Amino acid sequence: MKHYLVFILLTSLCMGGFAQNSKKAIFVIVDGISADVIEKLNTPALDAIAREGGYARAHVGGEKGGYSETPTISAVGYNSLLTGTWVNKHNVWDNDIAAPNYNYWTIFRFLEEQYPGKKTAVFSSWEDNRTKLVGENLSATGNIKLDYHFDGLELDTINYPHDKSRDFMHRIDEAVVNNAVEHIKKEAPDLSWVYLEYTDDMGHMYGDSEQFYKAVAMMDDQMGRLWQAIQYRKQNFKEDWVIYITTDHGRDAQSGKHHGGQSDRERSTWIVTNAKGLNNYFKTGNPGVVDIMPSIANFLNISIPRERLMEIDGMPLTGKLYATTADISLLNNKLRITWKALEKKGNAKIWLSTTNHFKEGGKDEYILQATVPLAKQEAIIDVSKLPSSFYKVVIETPGNMLNRWVAERK
Ligand SMILES: [Zn+2]
Repeated sequence: MKHYLVFILLTSLCMGGFAQNSKKAIFVIVDGISADVIEKLNTPALDAIAREGGYARAHVGGEKGGYSETPTISAVGYNSLLTGTWVNKHNVWDNDIAAPNYNYWTIFRFLEEQYPGKKTAVFSSWEDNRTKLVGENLSATGNIKLDYHFDGLELDTINYPHDKSRDFMHRIDEAVVNNAVEHIKKEAPDLSWVYLEYTDDMGHMYGDSEQFYKAVAMMDDQMGRLWQAIQYRKQNFKEDWVIYITTDHGRDAQSGKHHGGQSDRERSTWIVTNAKGLNNYFKTGNPGVVDIMPSIANFLNISIPRERLMEIDGMPLTGKLYATTADISLLNNKLRITWKALEKKGNAKIWLSTTNHFKEGGKDEYILQATVPLAKQEAIIDVSKLPSSFYKVVIETPGNMLNRWVAERK
């Protein structure tokens, strides 16, 4: 009997481990490099990765002038990547990370909730990325635990004394990358986050300058080493790896020293990936930083629960999308909802909620208001019987969801 149980256990372990190529994902944030800069400089490593997948211009900052407008600030952007939502939801407004709303789960939490046995890792100069954004060991994040981290070197002023030229930050980035390479080659975590800071430091100090460009070249070399570690795993262990590399914001147009605002250049970012099956939205849709999370979730076969999917602002960059670009307006008790249909067949279901309990960890009751042909690209909903100063709308297509908020103009 005992032997029989052990046999079943071993069999199921093997099936889980080897039945298909294990899928592994890495995302990298290299800090503060606008799209024009990455495009004009020589980046052989990024180019090699993009040749297997693609390069696209992208954006941060949410909807400029809209309810999701999001500061083009570092931790704000990282959390948009982690949660697939803009700041009106995730609530990290600056680098103080005062009160993240953990009701909007990170990609780490989605993975760990569904697959508790999967391995996760963070490699970062900045410790807050793990302790505050991912929220390791906090009750509000379900006490999420990462399997491995290498971070906090910024606090080690013995080995990395803070010199004025901030060379120490380059040395920290090197240590972070070297550690990531070593750990990935050996342990191959299922989901890894690598964060590198030095480019942003040079941007702040020198703006658009040779120093900044040199930092970008160093970053490219670091990406080359990460890419080699992935090749090593692919060749020796037959794993299926995806990598997404992006930046958290651009820089101002005048000097290149600043960021935080909503200018085109501060909002302009980019994504490099080796992902297969990139869709047209990736190629031509000016995707957002919020789209990376659902893309990785797709790749890792994470099924995001419906009520959570209804809150995510991003869409997968791979596979088929049915609609993008939702808009909504409220006038004279009528909601006008529009979208851009990418498929001619199928219907759009229009769901409406007048509450936002999700924000506090509760549930919203969505009422189906209409089912219209996707190709119509518009629905008009009479809300005179549902008076409210706030509406959440979800457009459900056969393959993806879009969500929008609208509040009465005062
Ligand atoms: Zn930054």
